[in-house]
Amino acid sequence: MPGETNIVLVGAGPTGLLLAGDLAAAGLDVTVLERRADESNLTRAFAVHARTLELLDMRGVAGELLATGTKVPLLRLPGGARLDLSRLPGHFPYVLITPQYETERVLTDRALAAGARIEYGTRVTGLRQDDDGVTVYAAGRDGPARGRRAAYVVGADGAHSTVRDALGLPFPGRAAVRSVMLADVRLTDPPGDVLAVGAARGAFGFLAPFGDGRHRAIAWNDDADLDDDVPVDVDDLRATLRRALGTDHGLHDPSWTSRFHSDERQVPRYRVHRVFLAGDAAHVHSPVGGQGMNVGLQDAANLSWRLVAAARGDTGLLDGYQRERHPVGRAVLLGSGAMLRGARLRAAPLRAARDALLRAVTGTPPLARRVARAVSGIGIAYDAPRGSHRLTGRRAPDVALDGPPGRLFAALREGRFVLVVAADDPAVTYLATRLWAGRVHCAVAGAATRTTALVRPDGYVAWATDATAPEHRAAEIRAALTRWCGPPVHVRPAA
Ligand SMILES: Cc1cc2nc3c(=O)[nH]c(=O)nc-3n(C[C@H](O)[C@H](O)[C@H](O)COP(=O)(O)OP(=O)(O)OC[C@H]3O[C@@H](n4cnc5c(N)ncnc54)[C@H](O)[C@@H]3O)c2cc1C
Repeated sequence: MPGETNIVLVGAGPTGLLLAGDLAAAGLDVTVLERRADESNLTRAFAVHARTLELLDMRGVAGELLATGTKVPLLRLPGGARLDLSRLPGHFPYVLITPQYETERVLTDRALAAGARIEYGTRVTGLRQDDDGVTVYAAGRDGPARGRRAAYVVGADGAHSTVRDALGLPFPGRAAVRSVMLADVRLTDPPGDVLAVGAARGAFGFLAPFGDGRHRAIAWNDDADLDDDVPVDVDDLRATLRRALGTDHGLHDPSWTSRFHSDERQVPRYRVHRVFLAGDAAHVHSPVGGQGMNVGLQDAANLSWRLVAAARGDTGLLDGYQRERHPVGRAVLLGSGAMLRGARLRAAPLRAARDALLRAVTGTPPLARRVARAVSGIGIAYDAPRGSHRLTGRRAPDVALDGPPGRLFAALREGRFVLVVAADDPAVTYLATRLWAGRVHCAVAGAATRTTALVRPDGYVAWATDATAPEHRAAEIRAALTRWCGPPVHVRPAA
């Protein structure tokens, strides 16, 4: 059918762009419909956390993004508490501060190079789905809305998602914070290469260095109740920072200002038949904690390989998206909401108790490690069936591999499952290279281990075993490959 496309993504924000690159790299026909006329120069998000950097490393673009920003290994919290990220496991023990448009630029370049089409100036107005596919209605620059068919559609169209509305889904929640001031500024007396966060007397202040001499300031004052279109008054911003942080750090020369409000909401269903929601279309919360874009990118990484399998005819993995990502979205809403409410405490004794709690938690190494892992996304793990190996559902570290490409995250750049075996075994190699050819990369662990693990394309362990008896292990591997990668291909015996 002319004009038919395999997958339509609505929205070229970070979530849609990561998905577009993954799906196009897997050989699918991908079209992104974006209502903006051209690329974004928006700087909402600026904190890229460690787990997101790992996902970008698995796509070969982490280095490019790192070159655009500042690495911040220490977060300065209210009451003198400090959260140390420098002991996080992995290659990225810090949060990267870089403008959102840089993340989008890197992901746009990757998606286009992989063959995705991005149609700017195309606004989706609605959709209708049937058993065979979805018709997406979109109006372009040069004409009225027309329908296009797709096998699957993902609504990555942000907080005011048209796709979510078209599915008739509610977006329950509540208003979180109003009259938040944003500004990109210079500071005469900067707080150093750390994120400065403070909350006192009904005011909240936050400063992050962009690494180019400018800082992003975010501040609000609980007494203010102004609409988003009321311009930011720089004197008001300075006064709010002084209340929250004790100083305005000599703030001057704002190059850009904006005002916004945010809600805490989550959609109950991330999937309705052939249509999925991801990123801000599925969940929104206040920017406290710098999580929104990170969670959206992780949604995309969780969904893309499931859609690749579905396009191959294996639809059994699609429901895992809701099962795994809805609880993560819920946890982020709760965590960010708790931080927001903590920041807004007004009574002096409550603020003192909050600050003492923060100092106690960040000063107790096991607790501080837990918080650092939660904030960075490194600690995210998915539920595993009862009786599974202890690694199942957990983040796979970037282990060394014996032979090219030398490490796990580099092997994951092919977008396939990676079977890491404890030792070379021709029977296992045969399974991966013949019966599951093109779906699995088989590699021998670079360090001594008893564990054989099947790692999903999003870097989580699908299945693992410590079985060492060759026949037993081969049977388990065969079952795991069938469960996760679909049935084996039929190989004709040699004539
Ligand atoms: C002040 C502030 C600071 C923040 N800081 C951070 C941070 O430090 N770290 C972090 O992780 N997150 C942060 N966030 C949140 C982050 O910006 C968002 O979570 C992120 O942009 C969500 O990405 P997305 O791709 O899901 O949606 P969006 O970025 O909203 O992209 C959606 C896209 O869909 C397009 N679109 C919408 N409707 C249609 C339609 N009908 N047809 C076609 N296209 C459509 C839009 O034009 C847009 O390009 C912050 C947010 C704010 C407001």
